[in-house]
Amino acid sequence: MGTRIIRVGLGSDVHRLVPGRPFLLGGVELLSDRGEWGHSDGDVLAHAVIDAILGAAGLGDIGALFPPSEEAWKDADSMELLRIAFGLVKEAGWRLINLDCVVTCESPKIFPYRDRIQASLARVLEIPGTAVFVKGKTNEGLGPVGAGQAVEALVVCLLERDAPRGTPDWPWR
Ligand code: MG
Repeated sequence: MGTRIIRVGLGSDVHRLVPGRPFLLGGVELLSDRGEWGHSDGDVLAHAVIDAILGAAGLGDIGALFPPSEEAWKDADSMELLRIAFGLVKEAGWRLINLDCVVTCESPKIFPYRDRIQASLARVLEIPGTAVFVKGKTNEGLGPVGAGQAVEALVVCLLERDAPRGTPDWPWR
């Protein structure tokens, strides 16, 4: 087996929570009296995943790929944006090993939705459900997240690809 290149990626996102919008996490709608405000559908977790995989692959970020100034992305399905971003990552030869995610909000509780969210992300990212983990936390009442005015997502991911022939074990290119 040849040398593999492994890269970590980090993504984060915050969205305001307002009445009259769906509360979406990884394409799953949670029962809530408020949801994420955003130019797209506001799916904070999908956005953080996009930034994590693009960052690991060195392919830019969500703002560069899907500029909010472009009308095309208004009310966009963020899981479709994720599908497009992951397509670019795959085209560059990367395979996704795993994702680990933290979603912070005061309500609703994430736990009852965890399996569905993990399955939804795993489906688009073509990895087993066991390679995606989603943790829900509160902010202990602190700050805008603690006041229920916002939701935050943090995601790390690991990508791998085969190194070009002749690549030394270290340093990786
Ligand atoms: Mg966002």
